Amino acid sequence: MKRRQTLKVLSTLPLLAVFPAFAADPVKKEAKKNAKKAAGGASKKLGKLTLIDEKDTLASAMQYKHDASKVGPMRSDKKANCANCAKYNVCMDGDADCKPLSKADLKKSDVAPCQIFKGKLVKAEGWCLSWQKKA
Ligand code: SF4
Repeated sequence: MKRRQTLKVLSTLPLLAVFPAFAADPVKKEAKKNAKKAAGGASKKLGKLTLIDEKDTLASAMQYKHDASKVGPMRSDKKANCANCAKYNVCMDGDADCKPLSKADLKKSDVAPCQIFKGKLVKAEGWCLSWQKKA
């Protein structure tokens, strides 16, 4: 190793002590990236709310899917999705952690709270049995 390279490596050591994230395992980084890709690159967190898991008991009972096009015959209105549902971006009564997004933020976001899933986010492109046309 040349002297210049050695000095470069040595100069990063104090940074690694202060910011251990700089030393993050590249394999873990790649796995995280792939997990985000698998979830469709969607936002998974807004404040304290997290993206609902399709396998969640209530989500499963409501036949919630992140991708409305994968629902099947139960979804008779082919244009129905969370983004045009009356319960999208509405918080459940008593959910102190939930705050609806502003109009501007809602336009930029691919997720928002849903009135029937406390503490959870749903995808704009999602759908469930409780879909109700937005007035
Ligand atoms: S009620 Fe169902 S369709 Fe409506 S926003 Fe919530 S998850 Fe989406």
